[in-house]
Amino acid sequence: MSRFISIAIDGPSGAGKSTMAHRLGKEFGFLHVDTGAMYRAVGLAAMRAGVDKSDKAAVEAMLPSLDVRAELSENGQATYLNGEDVSLAIRENAVSAYASAVSAYPAVRAFLLELQRETAATQNVIMDGRDIATVVLPNADIKIYLTASVESRAARRYEELTQRGQSVDAETVKKEIEARDLADSTREIAPLKRHPEAELADTSWLSFEEGYALLKKIVSEGLSRVL
Ligand code: C5P
Repeated sequence: MSRFISIAIDGPSGAGKSTMAHRLGKEFGFLHVDTGAMYRAVGLAAMRAGVDKSDKAAVEAMLPSLDVRAELSENGQATYLNGEDVSLAIRENAVSAYASAVSAYPAVRAFLLELQRETAATQNVIMDGRDIATVVLPNADIKIYLTASVESRAARRYEELTQRGQSVDAETVKKEIEARDLADSTREIAPLKRHPEAELADTSWLSFEEGYALLKKIVSEGLSRVL
């Protein structure tokens, strides 16, 4: 029986999961699914509606009116919120804290889990997030835990935001990453953690290209095992 292959990449904020997964997806012909973008879309909806992000009931009450979709576009995944392309809006720094807060609510996770599993059931995917190997796709053929030190993730994130023209302070960016690490790894539901079978890829001391080469090797070896 033929079935679809899935690759799970988990790790903390700013480890480069989406950029790496996007390129790997292109190289190996897999659909890249960026689950963080989906949480960001829900966070953006809460932010725009003026909903207090720590008000779980208010965030959950918004869900039935939300339509979050991820579609493939020329530049990778395009994320839609109620029909509007929010791919750029969800990258605003202010959205990150909303995404992290809303992602701790069980109803938000259940809402997106279904969408994520449905996507992986119909095509070969490379999916990145925090709980892909541990919760969303525990049977993923290849599992990777991509990480780097807080310092190097903060430096890369600062670079990325300033290049996009957002004015941010380096120390604040580092503090925000630390706060998200703490929130993502200590929440009760689907906390960020390494699946015991996941290959550890620590890119603290690697350039982007070196990190990419490491992941490519892990994926090639993994594929040769399952194909
Ligand atoms: O990866 P990214 O930084 O875009 O994710 C935004 C937020 O969404 C994260 O801080 C995390 O709290 C949440 N998230 C999650 N589970 C995932 C992907 C992202 O909880 N699978």
